[in-house]
Amino acid sequence: MTGKKMFGTNGVRGVINETMTVDLVLKLGKAIGTVIGPGKIVIGRDARNGGEMFSNTVIAGLLSTGCSIVNIGPVPTPTLQFVVPRMRAAGGVVITASHNPAEFNGIKVMGGNGIEISRETERKIESIFHSCNFTVANWDALASVTHDETAVDQHIEGIKSHINTEIVRTRNLVVVIDSANSVGGLVTPKLMRDLGCKVVSLNSQLDGSFPGRSPEPTPENVIELRKTVKSIGADLGIAHDGDADRATFVDEDGNTISGDHSLAIIAKRVLNRRTGSTLVTPISSGKLIEDIVEEVGGKIDWTVVGSVDVSHRVEEINAELGGEENGGVFYPPHQAVRDGPMTSALIVEIMSSENKKLSELVSELPVYYTEKQKLNIPIEKMNSIAEKLLILTEDQRRITIDGIKLIQDDGWILIRPSGTEPLYRIFAEGRTQETAKNLCKFGIDLIQRAMK
Ligand code: MG
Repeated sequence: MTGKKMFGTNGVRGVINETMTVDLVLKLGKAIGTVIGPGKIVIGRDARNGGEMFSNTVIAGLLSTGCSIVNIGPVPTPTLQFVVPRMRAAGGVVITASHNPAEFNGIKVMGGNGIEISRETERKIESIFHSCNFTVANWDALASVTHDETAVDQHIEGIKSHINTEIVRTRNLVVVIDSANSVGGLVTPKLMRDLGCKVVSLNSQLDGSFPGRSPEPTPENVIELRKTVKSIGADLGIAHDGDADRATFVDEDGNTISGDHSLAIIAKRVLNRRTGSTLVTPISSGKLIEDIVEEVGGKIDWTVVGSVDVSHRVEEINAELGGEENGGVFYPPHQAVRDGPMTSALIVEIMSSENKKLSELVSELPVYYTEKQKLNIPIEKMNSIAEKLLILTEDQRRITIDGIKLIQDDGWILIRPSGTEPLYRIFAEGRTQETAKNLCKFGIDLIQRAMK
């Protein structure tokens, strides 16, 4: 984390005690307080190692600028986001590195509306950080730290207010929840029980070494969940990422449902409530989403990849829904940010009200095949590769609002650098798995050519 830019696609991230240190976090706390203070700031954290160390450090920095603190302890990111406006706070800070490996930690900053601060506010914080031009409160203007343990209950009640609890209760669904030993386990199991489901929990004790599985809920990482769902005859499996803003679903046969599919299932119902409804989604979403939105007479508003950009656009145009291919769903009647427990409640409500299995809901969707891959890149080569890729694909049909989306007759491929790690992500979609695989391989070849 050198140079001017500190915020990536979603917050500041680094390796604990290497690139993410208490010295950096203290300065960052002072810079955050200078820009979004004065006033009350809500602090939360996920279950990662360093969570207490960094939340205490960021609290010290914020206090020195005259902010007061409400510490809500370990919670999912969407829980903190839900309570920030309800506590009439000036903003919120959550210590999390979301789905990154265990050695990482990070910081996400929210404004008073609970949504991640804008790119412009991130630049302001970075500029104050580098100039050290911090607000310093007088000794008699220092405020206090209070603790609040009501956030999880507030969040659960908020979600239930948007769900037809009676209908879900009639189905007696059996749900297996894999919380990756992180904070999702504080919300989703209780929420599902409140909705009348029978809950089986996996990896539900908080442990920053992530002993159960890696915090990214990919099909390979949730094999234990898939096996459990199938072997006990459960109706549904739910896997959260490290800070539970996302949910990945597993059907009754133990198959992982792609994020595009779960988004399409929700979008089909939510957009259908009113004609001309809008879905905000990044350029990485595929043809399936386009087909579904068209089917229900809705519109798509495309954004660059990044949940912060989707949230801000959802808010700006008052969209009915937002969603990402990675399992992030933004349901604005509840809040305009990704919320894994809310997404889970929407899925069980749809299964209950239509009395369908998850595999049936998936089978109603148009069939496309996707492939996703990532390629680690030496960090110093990230920029030169981006430039070379633009030259290498000059003569192709492409969209370059974020990375490079190449459109071919039998599918498309998106090649883009990660905003949080030194790697490139390749997404491909085709009418057959073979096509998608070949497109993905084509993308990897392009990057390797660009690396030479
Ligand atoms: Mg996350």
